Amino acid sequence: MTTNLMMNYWNGEWHRPAGSDLLDVLNPATQEVLGEVPLSRADAVAQAAEAAQAALPGWRRMPPNDRAQYLYHMKRLLEEHRDELARLISMECGKTLDESRGEILRAIENVEVASGIPTLLQGKISEDIAPGIDEIMLRHPVGVCAIIAPFNFPGMIPFWFLPYALACGNPVIVKPSERVPLTMQRVVQIMEDLKLPKGVLNLVNGSKDAVDGILDHPAIRAVSFVGSTPVAKYIYSRAAANGKRAQCQGGAKNPVVILPDADMESATRIIADSAFGCAGQRCLAVSTAITVGEAERPFTESITDAALQRTVGYGLDEGVQMGPVITPASKTRIEGLVAKALADGAEMVVDGRGAAIPGFEKGNFIRPTLFSGLPMESEVASTEIFGPVLSLLQVESVEQAIELVNSGRYGNQASLFTSSGSAARKFRYEADAGNIGINIGVAAPIAYFPFSGWKESFFGDLHGQGTDAVDFFTQKKVVIERWPKEWSRKF
Ligand code: NAD
Repeated sequence: MTTNLMMNYWNGEWHRPAGSDLLDVLNPATQEVLGEVPLSRADAVAQAAEAAQAALPGWRRMPPNDRAQYLYHMKRLLEEHRDELARLISMECGKTLDESRGEILRAIENVEVASGIPTLLQGKISEDIAPGIDEIMLRHPVGVCAIIAPFNFPGMIPFWFLPYALACGNPVIVKPSERVPLTMQRVVQIMEDLKLPKGVLNLVNGSKDAVDGILDHPAIRAVSFVGSTPVAKYIYSRAAANGKRAQCQGGAKNPVVILPDADMESATRIIADSAFGCAGQRCLAVSTAITVGEAERPFTESITDAALQRTVGYGLDEGVQMGPVITPASKTRIEGLVAKALADGAEMVVDGRGAAIPGFEKGNFIRPTLFSGLPMESEVASTEIFGPVLSLLQVESVEQAIELVNSGRYGNQASLFTSSGSAARKFRYEADAGNIGINIGVAAPIAYFPFSGWKESFFGDLHGQGTDAVDFFTQKKVVIERWPKEWSRKF
């Protein structure tokens, strides 16, 4: 029997799951059981939502400057516990310790930006929109907010939303991925030190039933989701049907274009990090590399070397550059897509399937994999693989490359490697993606920029992070005021 049972948290107290099914949480490198997570149902969500709703009046009345004090404290706590949280992330998610540390840093950056809430929350005023009449725009909290997170950044993604929602005066319910619940469990334990008013920060573990409970509960007014496109679409439409505000980030298939004038050595290093870092399980991982003209031969040679040289192993071991993928099912799915690409006409360049890592034979490891020449008609060409697999394509001009970039269903990220300013500007202008990288492999926006995403990579209007988050987590109230007659006389 495992003793590490995930609990739910609402009204400032931990609650043992009652009557929920339990799921094992497994270390993807070893299959060791790290804990058990309850698959909570709508009744648990309802209790969290009621606690959050009860906390709303007090929390929204607290001056923003006082709410910011909690965020300063939150930043200190995340910094103090950064290594501990990074180890947890590596254990349950598989990534390397450096990757996990970087993830917590990104979470901290969002807390820092949200700490500017006294300024971010300011409204506006126009005097004398008519004689003696003034108009004011104020921002009020939207109400109880829910965050539904994916498995691949258990420590960072909730923080694209959480600090802003709180700073704007909203109580929050976090629903982590059931595959990686340990990190947020520990985060909420650590955050108890903040002594937030009861009901302001809540945690409900679970999967689809808990999500449906969130989507249907009338007290929950806004939903922030990150995950795969089919689920993003489902959540966006059901939330909207229930009158909620929703921002839903979906899947991706990110192209990178390499021009012959690129610095091949650094381009290869950066693209290899993008494609194979976090075992390719990043929504901004490059998955298709399009070489233009003479870039083909040098890039293919150097990326092949980079793929072969990458050290694969347990994320907590020294010197490891790439960990396992999340589940055995994920490994099977990824290897199946590679097989299908070959069956559809692609040529294998580096085959990373069937990887056996000494000491970690049960792990879900796939080594970096490269194939080339996948016909665009193949279903694999438009399917998100979400593993350490890079497809190599060749075209003859920047125009053809941009056409290929824009032919995809997704629009999360597109990157270009070049030393030409005019090619860079053309690409920035014409590529249909929400996040553009010029000589950047993972174009992850810093916290004071919106984390964008277009096409099937995003459903909604306002993105996570920065001022978009403040707009999302507030509703605008416009007040028009007329005062005594002598102030309103006509001149
Ligand atoms: P997922 O869609 O399987 O799960 C995400 C969340 O939705 C989890 O909390 C899960 O419990 C819940 N969920 C799963 N199935 C559901 C259903 N049928 N109904 C209701 N809720 C459901 O995604 P994942 O596998 O955890 O994460 C990987 C995906 O997330 C990839 O597609 C990746 O591209 C995407 N992602 C996107 C971004 C971005 O910024 N666009 C960032 C990170 C990850």
